Amino acid sequence: SKNKGGNSSSFYDPALQTLLEKQTELETDIVRAIASNEFCAYFQPQVNQLGKVVGAEALIRWNHPKKGLIAPNEFIPIAEQYGLIQSLQNVVLRDICKLINELKSTNTIDNSFSVSINISQSQFNSSNLKKELFSTIKEFGVEASQIKLEITESMLSSDIEHTIVQMKELISAGFVFSIDDFGTGYSCLTYLSAFPVKELKIDKSFIDKILDQAKGFSIAQTIISLGKSLNLVVVAEGVETAAQYEVLSKMNIDSIQGYLIAKPMPKAHYLKWHNDKSDV
Ligand code: C2E
Ligand code: CA
Ligand code: CA
Ligand code: CA
Repeated sequence: SKNKGGNSSSFYDPALQTLLEKQTELETDIVRAIASNEFCAYFQPQVNQLGKVVGAEALIRWNHPKKGLIAPNEFIPIAEQYGLIQSLQNVVLRDICKLINELKSTNTIDNSFSVSINISQSQFNSSNLKKELFSTIKEFGVEASQIKLEITESMLSSDIEHTIVQMKELISAGFVFSIDDFGTGYSCLTYLSAFPVKELKIDKSFIDKILDQAKGFSIAQTIISLGKSLNLVVVAEGVETAAQYEVLSKMNIDSIQGYLIAKPMPKAHYLKWHNDKSDV
C-alpha cells in the first residue's frame, strides 16, 4: 500500500497483516499437532571411509494430515518464537532413545555409535535442556555418550565463560558436542580450542562447491586440517555425488553424511537400512 502519511504505514500493511495471521495460524496448528503426535524424527546415517555406519543425525518432520510431510525450516522458527521448541525437541529426543534401544537389541551398534540432535539457540540457553536430557536418557536406559549435541558457532560467540561451564556440565555427564554448519558463522578460531567439542561438521555450502579449487575445495581442506590439528572428528554434510566423496576422501575426511549415502528416513526405514548395511 502507498505510504499516505507519516512513517507508521506498516501498521496497516496488508502484507504484514497476512503474515502475522499466518504465523498465528501456524502456531495454533503446531500446538494441535503436538497433541496429535504428528511430529517425529527422521534419521540420516553418517558413514566413515570404510563404509561403517558411525552415527546418524535426527531431523524433525511434521506429518501433517492435510499438507503432508513438512520440513523443519517451515516450522522451527515459529516454534522457537512461541516457546514450543522444547516440546518438539522432546519428541526428537524420545525417538532417538527408541532408535538406539532398537539398534542395541539387534546388536548392530557398538558403544561408539551416536545419534545427533540439533539444539536451537533458545534451548541451549534454557535450564530445561539439561533436565530433559537427563530424565529422558534415564527413562530409556540410554548412555549419554550415545547422544551428540549439535550447536552452531553463533551460540559460542557470547558469554564464552558461561557457555563453557554449561557445556562442561553436560560433558561430565557423558554427552558430546558437535559444531554444525561449521565455517558459515563467525568462527572465532582463537577460541575454538577452548570449547570442549568433539566434532566439526563442514557446511553443505562448501561441499556443493568442493570441485571448485578456489571456493569449496580450499575451505574444506582448511577445515579438515584445522579439525585434525585440534584432534576433532570432521564430518562432511550434504555429500551428493561420488566426485565430491572422492575429493573428501583424499582429504582424509573422517565421515560423511548426505544423499549419496542415504536421505533422512523414518525410524522403521532407518532400522532396515542400518541392519541391511551391517549384514554384509
Ligand atoms: P541441518 O542441521 O544443517 O541439517 C542438514 C539438512 O540438510 C537437513 O535438512 C537434511 O535433510 C539436509 N541434507 C542432508 N543431506 C543432504 C544432501 O545430500 N543434499 C541436500 N540437498 N540436503 C541434504 P532438514 O531436515 O530439512 O533440516 C533443516 C534444518 O532444520 C537443519 O539443518 C536444522 O538446522 C533444523 N532442524 C532439523 N531438525 C531439527 C530439530 O529436531 N531441532 C532443531 N532445533 N532444529 C532442527
Ligand atoms: Ca545439524
Ligand atoms: Ca548442518
Ligand atoms: Ca544447516
